[in-house]
Amino acid sequence: MERTFDPLPEEEIDRRIGHAADAFRSYRRTSVAERAGWMNAAADILDAERDRVAAMLTREMGKTIVAARAEVAKCAAACRYYADNAAGFLADRPADAEAVGAARAYVRYQPMGPVLAVMPWNFPLWQVIRFAAPGLMAGNVGLLKHASNVPQTALFLEELFRRAGFPEGVFQTLLIGSGQVERVLRDPRVRAATLTGSEPAGRSVGAIAADEVKPSVLELGGSDPFVVTAAADIARAAEAAATSRCLNNGQSCISAKRFIVVEDVADEFERAFVERMRALKVGDPMDESTDVGPLVSEQGRADVEDLVADAVKQGAKVLCGGERPEGRGWYYPPTVVTGVTADMRMFHEEVFGPVASLFRVRDLNEAIELANATGFGLGSNAWTDDPAERERLVAELEAGQVFVNGMTTSYPQLPFGGVKRSGYGRELSHEGIHAFCNVKTVWVG
Ligand code: NDP
Repeated sequence: MERTFDPLPEEEIDRRIGHAADAFRSYRRTSVAERAGWMNAAADILDAERDRVAAMLTREMGKTIVAARAEVAKCAAACRYYADNAAGFLADRPADAEAVGAARAYVRYQPMGPVLAVMPWNFPLWQVIRFAAPGLMAGNVGLLKHASNVPQTALFLEELFRRAGFPEGVFQTLLIGSGQVERVLRDPRVRAATLTGSEPAGRSVGAIAADEVKPSVLELGGSDPFVVTAAADIARAAEAAATSRCLNNGQSCISAKRFIVVEDVADEFERAFVERMRALKVGDPMDESTDVGPLVSEQGRADVEDLVADAVKQGAKVLCGGERPEGRGWYYPPTVVTGVTADMRMFHEEVFGPVASLFRVRDLNEAIELANATGFGLGSNAWTDDPAERERLVAELEAGQVFVNGMTTSYPQLPFGGVKRSGYGRELSHEGIHAFCNVKTVWVG
């Protein structure tokens, strides 16, 4: 069923920002234990209503129902993680008083105020919780500008925190278009911004934040390399490769997108990978047995098709997939392309759909060089059982994270973010909660 929602009028945007600023004045004085009680209550709601919430995500953006349920469960776990650990992350950190001529010296972590969160549709619940769980536990208040195609999830998030017991105004959703982000971010009552999304959106929000001298965290796209050496378990690597590339119907920033395989095992990997990509079931996302649902929109599919067409026109070869199926829905099949060169757009751009580029290289040196030959630097994958190779890959891959013999995933316990054009700042772990804290030095004579 199609539903539409009107954007907020200007007076309402202003009122809500005012409400956030007022809420912050009292919320910052609540104890971490009180906030933890509310955050655990939010987790309980997510667990109790998992199936209903998951169905809403699937209807809005097409992820499979199985993936949507897993996303809701992951959000509940992240809320509990920050409820349990925030007191430790926010505790005063003692410093060497004697060295600085003080009777006592320490660091205190204090909240900043209202934080604007500009979020994308691909993990519509998780991307927001990843900011909100640490953000609210730190004592900040949240203003969410969600992607325009997931308004029901956006409204649900405001309702979730209210029902969990957080005071009014601590987390509000602003149903606004991207054109109104600047107006909100320039408001002096808004103290910081976090954005997950495309590079143009990140560049714009980062530039406005810099102009206003407000801190920002940007989590932008990725074109993660997946390096396979001769010392890898090829069957496991091929399995993880297909899962990673097609996760969330191929629309994840940390999906492996460029598969770089050394010559000695390239034929074996290619056979196993293509076989697994072909075996994935494309279809109705509400069907429990579906592996890959539709892309988010007609435009989303057209963007993927254009990238494949550009590569094929210039000589790349499609090993499987590559043709849209007949019928309704923005479906695109799991696709493997070889012979991708630096003249092709696919070499440089993020492919936001289930399309893998497969490269053959002579040795590890060439693999690392190719892995780093991108403007992105979000995640990376290294497949090898050789300790010396592993050390080189860990040291030399230019990325915010490297997963060895496993698929890149986000965990509340580990920091998440990128280098190069994938953005800056870190979410999750203690880095994530400190990102929006005033790290205050206290010196007592
Ligand atoms: P966008 O980056 O356009 O959207 C993400 C969020 O940013 C949305 O809330 C959007 O609002 C907002 N936004 C967009 N432009 C601006 C702007 N100039 N100023 C402020 N806010 C802005 O992603 P799309 O959905 O358009 O996807 C396009 C591409 O971005 C994808 O193909 C993919 O490559 C990448 N992407 C990466 C993601 C990731 O996880 N790293 C997530 C989503 C997309 P609104 O919806 O109202 O436009």
